[in-house]
Amino acid sequence: MTDKKIQLFVPTFRVEECLSEIRECLEKGWTGLGFKTLELEEKWKEFTGLPYAHYLNSATVGLDLAVNILKEQNGWLDGDEIISTPMTFVSTNHAVLYNNMKVVFADVDEYLCLSPQSVKERISEKTRAVMFVGLGGNTGRLAEIASICKENGLKLILDAAHMAGTRYKDGSLPGKDVADVIIYSYQAVKNCPTGDSGMICFKDAEHDEIVRKKSWLGINKDTFARSAGGGAYKWKYDVEYLGHKDHGNSIMASIGLVSLKYLDADNAYRRTIAGWYDVAFQDCPNVRIVPVAPDCESSRHLYQILVNNRDELLLALNDVGVFPGVHYRDNTEYKMYAYAKGTCPCSLYASEHTLSLPLHIHLTHDDVMYVAEMVKKYAK
Ligand SMILES: *Cc1c(COP(=O)(O)O)cnc(C)c1O
Repeated sequence: MTDKKIQLFVPTFRVEECLSEIRECLEKGWTGLGFKTLELEEKWKEFTGLPYAHYLNSATVGLDLAVNILKEQNGWLDGDEIISTPMTFVSTNHAVLYNNMKVVFADVDEYLCLSPQSVKERISEKTRAVMFVGLGGNTGRLAEIASICKENGLKLILDAAHMAGTRYKDGSLPGKDVADVIIYSYQAVKNCPTGDSGMICFKDAEHDEIVRKKSWLGINKDTFARSAGGGAYKWKYDVEYLGHKDHGNSIMASIGLVSLKYLDADNAYRRTIAGWYDVAFQDCPNVRIVPVAPDCESSRHLYQILVNNRDELLLALNDVGVFPGVHYRDNTEYKMYAYAKGTCPCSLYASEHTLSLPLHIHLTHDDVMYVAEMVKKYAK
């Protein structure tokens, strides 16, 4: 036994900086929507080069709003289909069901992202969109999927929950100009952590306008602010949609502003760690590394390997103080999505063999070497 404890994810918060941003909100008496939420939206647009960004209380509601608005604006019907991946957190696929549409699962490739070939095979008369997840920060074959969407008149929704800070090696942003909407997560263990929150970035100005209303119960506060003017008419807004309460607040945004400042540097260190793992597993036939697409500079939310004895390895690692994770269980194995069970053999294989090794910026070179040594010792 050991008293070592190397966890999968440990977020880093620059506490004093976060507190000073939060202090500003408290002193000003402005902790809700506006103020820091607007500042974070501006900073995120600068960081990504995307034209629109709206701050939400999670990526989950962002995915829901993405499907909701695209459905409404494009006249999709209940029962229409969105092609998605089984290798994801359930938020991705729930977003489709929340909106009374059907998830058609396509299989994954060696990047554990959607396979273009499989997506093509699953396009039907009822397909309206493809939901792509950049697993672990990887871009996989996103560009090919984007071409398929274009050729077939399908919308492209990018679940970029893992992709905060991912770029192509030429510096461009994955999904820019090709995805109709990109959704980022700032959940507590994602690369740009807050407590819970996320950003939705539509390509289209009108969609951005709609999401700002829908994320605040459908309230349109502009009508009277513009025409009648003056604070006296603040209550005389219109309500255009049956929206939910989905927008973010200034306290979370305060933390997000600090995390964003360090995102590139943190991700660079994550890539350094991934490089150490790569070297350690170079000559180890029992450990197959899940590759990053050659043109991708990944945020490295995850470092994933495939091994034959995953469950056994996981327990052996726990015994020596290493606590990895699994991303993910093939969603068609869940009761909710069991109608598609057996349709994605590569996903099922990955689901049973993949392991995500500890990856966060508190890890030292020694920690990483220790994890790698233990993996090599117990992997079969
Ligand atoms: C974390 C995650 C989400 C949901 O993000 P929240 O901000 O926690 O709602 C969606 N998709 C994927 C792939 C995720 O990992």
